[in-house]
Amino acid sequence: HERELLAYRELSAETLDGFRLALRGNVELADEVPLAISQGAEGIGLYRSEFLYMNRPLPPSEEEQLQAYRDILAKMAPHPVTIRTLDVGGDKFVPEINLADEANPAMGLRAVRFSLKERRLFKIQLRAILRASAHGRVRVMFPMISGVAEIRACKVLLEEAKAELVAEEIPFNAAISVGIMIETPSAALIAGLLAREVDFFSVGTNDLIQYCLAVDRGNEHVAYLYEPLHPAILRALKMICDAGREAGIEVGMCGEMAADPLYSLVLLGLGFDELSMNAPGIPRVKRILRQLRRSEGVAILDEIFGFATAREVAEYLEIEMARRF
Ligand code: PEP
Ligand code: MG
Repeated sequence: HERELLAYRELSAETLDGFRLALRGNVELADEVPLAISQGAEGIGLYRSEFLYMNRPLPPSEEEQLQAYRDILAKMAPHPVTIRTLDVGGDKFVPEINLADEANPAMGLRAVRFSLKERRLFKIQLRAILRASAHGRVRVMFPMISGVAEIRACKVLLEEAKAELVAEEIPFNAAISVGIMIETPSAALIAGLLAREVDFFSVGTNDLIQYCLAVDRGNEHVAYLYEPLHPAILRALKMICDAGREAGIEVGMCGEMAADPLYSLVLLGLGFDELSMNAPGIPRVKRILRQLRRSEGVAILDEIFGFATAREVAEYLEIEMARRF
């Protein structure tokens, strides 16, 4: 079975009616890139850069980051690599950085909020990402955006970093693609406003589900409430995809939800352009997508949105998938 799945490595994730999705890998370290390639990843859709900052006394220098980013780019070429800026806080604890002792860390000073507070650190990272963009297809992505002001503040700093590099005559790609993660309920609700500000969205369902359903993603006592097919989540995903399509920007998903083949039909129908996941999930999802039609995904949406519980949606999808496979 494994060998059969690996046969999909060389094939694109194209549906029977010619709709092509990009299947990309999620990685935390450059070492994981060869595995992603071996599983058929067409790029890295989520590079969790915070792992560069962990288990060390001081944050990585601009040069060190540049080397790490170039290493990943070189391994992944000619495919694109989406570098997510530092996402500390919440469940990602970097002892040297998380100075504040917060009562409610998931809603505290995490991710882009931390970066916008520690601007010196943020600027170093932006400069390193920009410099890497001279060496391959880099996209920069900001995590945990909850409003338009935050993305604008990020873009101001990015422009400052660009101006510095110009003045220093250091090369970079001035047209670097800028995106955000959609992983807060507010970002989903104002997806139309956010879409005007960026080149792409990537939905972080791990956090989006946690925040939309008010269910701690790491708490076993409420794990039974953590439902990707909850009608509220499906509605949020539809709002995000519709807003992205209307604005003409790419919409991806890089949360765990992207890797479950039971959801592929729905994600196809909603119109995701990119699904990014841990490497081992790629061949399975690709195999499923290649045997579906986008039109089938669109056709089931009405049905899907008529159900009142995640259980009903799951049962319906299980029947639909069993009919096909
Ligand atoms: C997410 O929230 O879905 C996501 C991909 O980011 P992380 O799991 O790193 O928080
Ligand atoms: Mg997240």
